[in-house]
Amino acid sequence: MGTLKEIEILVPGKLHAATLARLEALFQVHQCRAGFVADLDEAVRRNIRGIATMAGIDRAGMDALPALEMIANFGVGYDAVDIASAVEKGLMVSHTPNVLNEEVADTAMGLLINTVRELPAAEAHLRAGKWVNNGPYPLTGATLQGRTMGIYGLGRIGKAIAKRALAFGLNIAYFGRTKQNVDFDYYSDLVSLARAVDTLMIVAPGTAETANSVNAEVMQALGADGVIINIGRGSVIDEPALIAALSDGTIRAAGLDVFADEPHVPDALLALPNAVLLPHVGSASLACRDAMGNLVVDNLVGWFEAKTPKTPVPEMG
Ligand code: NAP
Repeated sequence: MGTLKEIEILVPGKLHAATLARLEALFQVHQCRAGFVADLDEAVRRNIRGIATMAGIDRAGMDALPALEMIANFGVGYDAVDIASAVEKGLMVSHTPNVLNEEVADTAMGLLINTVRELPAAEAHLRAGKWVNNGPYPLTGATLQGRTMGIYGLGRIGKAIAKRALAFGLNIAYFGRTKQNVDFDYYSDLVSLARAVDTLMIVAPGTAETANSVNAEVMQALGADGVIINIGRGSVIDEPALIAALSDGTIRAAGLDVFADEPHVPDALLALPNAVLLPHVGSASLACRDAMGNLVVDNLVGWFEAKTPKTPVPEMG
């Protein structure tokens, strides 16, 4: 059996610097632009056995790497990896669950409070000199107090958000494909959940099933005091329907960390004063990214030393 240093790993696109450094210390690492795997020299491509990626990989990328065994995804959501092709080709795929739960849940609560209490707009008011010249920032029409949060996706991160929301005095309900053994009210469809709550917290993965599932009907059911927070995936929301619902008062406000076509955010969303927008920073602290990156490397080491990565995706069985 060879050593790890003989194993060639490809990093398509950007990777957290500390993770790249640890990979380079252990393996032979090649890099290329995201989506341009096939442009690498054939002499490099044919020896690549593993991938570490934040950007994901498509079928063409996998087809270009005949010796590929393992894809280590940097992130818990692996919608950018063509999982059906990976399964068909017998590739191992891993991701980074749990190590980011608390960080992402903190971001979700910050985004919720910013959205309901308009803190970014209040700060902009101060910085623009309006506090001195015009007086205090207007009272917010909404309050966090008395809200009921409907969690769409009560998984690892959803439960960490629920813990925080309870401490803030919120009521909690949830929707998912399966009823869980928890004390929160369960709704077996999204419209019924939206009707029962005024705050929809989206923390579901981006899949074919969840795509555009938060649609005009769900927004209508949420109602005029409704607030939508999306910390899951942009594809889960019907973005044009959201823009319409925010514009015509169907719902009150939205806080979004994720978008349908990142990093592009529609001008119509940018123009809306009742949308709080973040550039996908849910897990974006150095400490959290270090932990995620270490798990990426541990997964590759686990595979190449013993065929046992720590955290394979559920499709691996
Ligand atoms: P998880 O533990 O697998 O939880 C996902 C939840 O979504 C589960 O409770 C699942 O419940 C529900 N779900 C999945 N498919 C569904 C469907 N078709 N309909 C209804 N509910 C469905 O995952 P996690 O670790 O909490 O991560 C959740 C997602 O957060 C990730 O996939 C990722 O996209 C996103 N994320 C975003 C950031 C960020 O920076 N913004 C950071 C980390 C993660 P059932 O199985 O009962 O349906």
